[in-house]
Amino acid sequence: METKNTGALQLDPEELKRLRALLEREPQQIVLLAHTNPDGDAIGSALAWARQLERLGHSVRIIAPNRFPYFLESMPGISEVIIHRQEPERSEQLAREADVIFCIDFNGIARLEALGQAIESNASAVRVLIDHHLQPTERYDIRFSHPESCSTAFLVYSLILEIFGREHLTREIAECLYVGMMTDTGNFSYSVLTPALFRAVADLAETGIDIPAIYNGIYNAYSPQRARLFGYVIHRNMKFLKHNTVAYMSLTEEEMRRYYFQQGDSEGFVNYPLTVGKMKLSAMFLQHHTFIRVSLRSRGNVDVNLFARRYFEGGGHKNAAGGKSYVSMEETIEHFKRSIEEFASEGGLKQ
Ligand code: 5GP
Ligand code: MN
Repeated sequence: METKNTGALQLDPEELKRLRALLEREPQQIVLLAHTNPDGDAIGSALAWARQLERLGHSVRIIAPNRFPYFLESMPGISEVIIHRQEPERSEQLAREADVIFCIDFNGIARLEALGQAIESNASAVRVLIDHHLQPTERYDIRFSHPESCSTAFLVYSLILEIFGREHLTREIAECLYVGMMTDTGNFSYSVLTPALFRAVADLAETGIDIPAIYNGIYNAYSPQRARLFGYVIHRNMKFLKHNTVAYMSLTEEEMRRYYFQQGDSEGFVNYPLTVGKMKLSAMFLQHHTFIRVSLRSRGNVDVNLFARRYFEGGGHKNAAGGKSYVSMEETIEHFKRSIEEFASEGGLKQ
């Protein structure tokens, strides 16, 4: 008989056994790590997993390399997230002394920047990966790598259900997981939506979470300056290539200062060009002190993970990826245009 693929994650029984055994040990010092520029999925997954681990009696700390965007401030428990850049000594000590380290929503220690060294120096900690990015790089003692999952939050949901049961989904856990699923799927609009995901959302809804309030808390919580900056970027800096099938935008530090830029203000900008019919690939270049952050989005089979890896020292997912550039904005844009030509000539823009 043919079995229907509902998109339920197939969790590895051996890895599950190892994770169960690990969590059954006496109370342990556990550190949960989120990636640089932590997003709703990284933070939501970490907060939800932290609540579950604490219930088992473990002592849990969440560390992120740098600050989360201000529009995540409405999330329950967010104030307990330790920011490495703000508290380097405390973070590094926790990382060095942890019995267990969970790497949540990222696929390589390189994404931790300076915090990575403290992690590398703790050789005795059990290292567990819970992630949905392609091609994880390091060795992990226990590994849940599910690139087929829309979000890490859906993976954490699946782990909680499998190991502990549905009754362990508290309202707070559900709220955090919902934020992760909502933000990584563009409010349930990208191409990785499965029946199993919507069943998961139904489970979360049953806990009584207020879905419109969660949505408003994240997507309708920007500053007035951000609204103006968005208008400026779209009007002035959005450029089209290849018969309006490729778009790119840039933001320099001077432009950011003009609009009182706060980290998180450019979130979502890169998605906007995809509202243009037939758009295949969109790029955003954001200037930082020492490099330019590159964000990439695509539709269908256009693979920006590949593009980011090949041309911008980055990676991510097929339809959402990022990377870095260490030359000037002008040179970065020239490099992008040349890369697009090469990529297109090899068939990379065929959908
Ligand atoms: P965003 O454009 O939202 O910053 O990132 C989109 C996706 O690409 C995310 O899944 C993120 O984890 C991934 N990503 C962003 N920057 C990098 C990078 O420098 N290296 C890698 N490997 N992935 C990245
Ligand atoms: Mn994610």
